[in-house]
Amino acid sequence: MLDFIGRLTARQRDPRLLLGPGDDCALIRAAPGRAIVLTTDEMAEGTHFLLPRSTPEQIGRKLARINLSDMAGMGNAVPVAALCGAGLPESTPWQWVKEFTEALMSELNSINVSLAGGNLTRSDKIHVYLTVTGEAKPSETARRGGARPGDIIFGIGAFGEARAGLEILLSGKPAETRFKKLLDSFWLPPIQLEAGAVIGKRKLAAALMDNSDGLYKSVKTIAAASGCGALIEVNEDARSPALAAYCAARKKNWRDYVVSGGEDYGLVLAVNPRKARGFIETFPQACCLGVMTAGRDILFHENCKPRNFEHF
Ligand SMILES: [Mg+2]
Repeated sequence: MLDFIGRLTARQRDPRLLLGPGDDCALIRAAPGRAIVLTTDEMAEGTHFLLPRSTPEQIGRKLARINLSDMAGMGNAVPVAALCGAGLPESTPWQWVKEFTEALMSELNSINVSLAGGNLTRSDKIHVYLTVTGEAKPSETARRGGARPGDIIFGIGAFGEARAGLEILLSGKPAETRFKKLLDSFWLPPIQLEAGAVIGKRKLAAALMDNSDGLYKSVKTIAAASGCGALIEVNEDARSPALAAYCAARKKNWRDYVVSGGEDYGLVLAVNPRKARGFIETFPQACCLGVMTAGRDILFHENCKPRNFEHF
């Protein structure tokens, strides 16, 4: 596999990558005045995907995207290079490795990120992981802990679609055409790097993170990091047509999906009310999801109070 990565990456021509795969370490040129931004995430068979219901291409693309989503969640962080590792059973077909690696490379190359190295080991189940390094002006990064009571909570991206997509996937039945979008949201979540960059450059967010574990958990994380509480309110602007159609057909409450669906990978942020107008003008697609409050409680508007919520 490493020879294969070497061949795939030999064509990379990023001047920031001084030394790519093939030596003990990669060398990346550090830009003056920028901080190095680092993130890592993994996908394990049985935990993040079921082998019979996923293709190597889906896994490769999603592995790249979930890592890049963390970069988007930092504001104006520019990803530069990535390191990929894999634990693979001996029985893994060569074709699987090839399709996984090509899909990963295609995602990375599409946003100018080089694959700077990799590691391969034998394991019982498939386990792939990626580390992405990037750079940012510290003043243009946005963190989780800056929200204040009165800040408005906004979301960018589709909320709840990935959970619906996962349900379709686990049902084992082929999705009706009108629900294909939901499967795509699970496997190919759109990553909000451009939105994150604008938010960081214009300092629009008091607090920002990517929405990997669902709206409730994101708001709870921002509130805890910021030392305040929140009131979550979900209105029609958060309802995507694909999710609405799915929930109508299955007689489900779409707000449950928005509040507690995971793996959507949009952005959740708290915006000072003075910056709210500028934010909405910049991101007309954003939805308003509540307000930060004094105290420490996470409260729900009557319209989206989750039932059976104890497991959180
Ligand atoms: Mg994250």
